[in-house]
Amino acid sequence: MNQTVATDLVIGVSYTLRDRDGQVLDEADESDPLYYLHGHDNLLPRVEEQMAGLTIGDSKSFEIPAADGYGEHDANAFQQIDRSHLPPDPEPEEGMALMADFGMGPQPYRITRVTSDNVTIDLNHPLAGVDLHFTMKVLAIRAATDEEIEHGHAHGPDGSHGHHH
Ligand SMILES: [Zn+2]
Repeated sequence: MNQTVATDLVIGVSYTLRDRDGQVLDEADESDPLYYLHGHDNLLPRVEEQMAGLTIGDSKSFEIPAADGYGEHDANAFQQIDRSHLPPDPEPEEGMALMADFGMGPQPYRITRVTSDNVTIDLNHPLAGVDLHFTMKVLAIRAATDEEIEHGHAHGPDGSHGHHH
């Protein structure tokens, strides 16, 4: 019997993510697949929905509108902050993409404007407002280990890449 993608199984996939214009935003090659634990929000919920029921060797292309992916671009996600709240190094420049923790865990942000006193930052996810075009191929399906289910994520191709946390 062919196993199909379902909750609590570890799935190995190759994928290509493109924007509306066909530009590649992210990918995992067949030689270096992504392993994830299905049904545990490892991937976008709408991606996991599309994967459910596929079997090894199946490919699928689908589109996820921005609103169901990383959200629409939010004008309120722009914030003006005092320059002293940013690390002095590197010198802030417009267009710079950085990571910082503003109290909600580490998140990427982009500097959109710099004055002598203030810096305007854009906290939108880099893929906010982007319609996502996925092509995914199922390369492997296996049962998850108890530890993987407890952790809520996959531990590599055979579940042996364990760790403590
Ligand atoms: Zn773990």
